[in-house]
Amino acid sequence: MRYENGVLGLAHGSVDRRDERLGGGRRIGAGQIDRSHAMAPALQLGNQFPPMPGGMKSAVQQHEFGHSTASPESVYEAFIRRRGEYIRTIFGRCRANIRACAIRIVITASGKAFAVTGPGPAPPGERDPVDRGWHAEPMAVLRVRGFALPSGEPVDLYADGDRWTSDPVAGADLVAEGWIVPGLVDAHTHPGASDPGRPLDAGILREDLRAHLASGVTLIRAPGLAGDPPDWFGRSDDSPRALHAGPWIAQQGQFFDGWGRRPATADLPAVAAEQAARTGWAKVVIDWLADDDVMPVAVLRAAVARVHAVGGRLAVHSQHAAGGRVAVEAGVDSLEHGMGLDPELLPRMAARGIALTPTLSGITESLRRINADPERARTSWYVPGASAHGRLTAAAVEAGVTVLAGTDSRPHGQITREVRALVAAGVSPHEAIAAASWTARSYLGLPGLQEGAPADAVVFDADPRTDLGQLDKPRAVIVRGKLFTGGRPA
Ligand SMILES: [Zn+2]
Repeated sequence: MRYENGVLGLAHGSVDRRDERLGGGRRIGAGQIDRSHAMAPALQLGNQFPPMPGGMKSAVQQHEFGHSTASPESVYEAFIRRRGEYIRTIFGRCRANIRACAIRIVITASGKAFAVTGPGPAPPGERDPVDRGWHAEPMAVLRVRGFALPSGEPVDLYADGDRWTSDPVAGADLVAEGWIVPGLVDAHTHPGASDPGRPLDAGILREDLRAHLASGVTLIRAPGLAGDPPDWFGRSDDSPRALHAGPWIAQQGQFFDGWGRRPATADLPAVAAEQAARTGWAKVVIDWLADDDVMPVAVLRAAVARVHAVGGRLAVHSQHAAGGRVAVEAGVDSLEHGMGLDPELLPRMAARGIALTPTLSGITESLRRINADPERARTSWYVPGASAHGRLTAAAVEAGVTVLAGTDSRPHGQITREVRALVAAGVSPHEAIAAASWTARSYLGLPGLQEGAPADAVVFDADPRTDLGQLDKPRAVIVRGKLFTGGRPA
């Protein structure tokens, strides 16, 4: 691909090693790409955006605006308005690179944008940066069209970087048409470890996240991880967006050996708050096996207060009636599993905004395994709560509790199973998909398919509410404005 072809405008910048440590410092974005610097070639270029090489300059001059009736100013304004996110992305990539690099953003006459990156600014007089080992990277604007759930209203959306806009973008790629959800959500998953107790493994983590994305999951919440995740978690092109609570927090003597933290009871609220301050969530295991002590409500209440004081949220694991009561009493943010919960507490949960993540498919599968052994089925504490769990889940939806879909087990990428389990329990397909999409996104802080929302979408050929099988075969999965193609984003 040749950047000379029908070039309309060009932003040219360089990033040196000083910028590599800018994680929380100076941000380079559209606002800082001063028009006079970026508008090539007639305008003067400053220090931050050194002069373009001569050959490129003449190519730009030759083709500039030749295929457009728009004024240079309007083209450039549109570019800056729409491509700010791209510019940030590209600069971010260069910062991540060991070598200093330079970036040129090129818009062709058809409206397509390219980022041309290379090992450094070409010296004046250099004829063609591409000849020096530069490469051009397509920055196509994605477009989706169809009926947006939950409303079913028609939409026509363009990914302006990582934001949806309904402002048409010339030359955008219509990647899919159909029924569109704002991405699926797995609100309870623990990627990155082969078995309970095993350490976090970066290779497994990457594969697990890729499996989530391939299944249409563009956002996960990990209420507990085997370790602190690497920087790319929730950010790289093959990862859904991700929220997490770091390693679990449990009472002493409880939970899986090798996983989580077990602070002294008096320290537990502070440990939860420290985690939530770092990542937004903390996860506390408040009950474990049938004979284990349930966390005292005073301790959990203190943890909730400390976590809320730092602006975080608290999720708790409970699989016993007594634990469920303590969780509701303490006013936690989300009750995970909630097996054995007294259904009479559901109206209070709804009123207090306590979400329930039933992890129904996982619990149903465990129950099936236990029931396969009659002696075990007769004696297991697990059976009564698990047997009632589908009814409890349907009643929670009925009572107006925010129900979130979560899979909680390997293999990853099985959110469709959870949706089916919810439907099998008597939840309507609309509500079941809501639990795995727009309701969960909203609960986790992301808006749906609307102007300015983060550019995630999953497109199906038909309405998944009337044909659940659609969930198994998304036509397109888009995360952060990029099309996921199974391996790498296009
Ligand atoms: Zn879990």
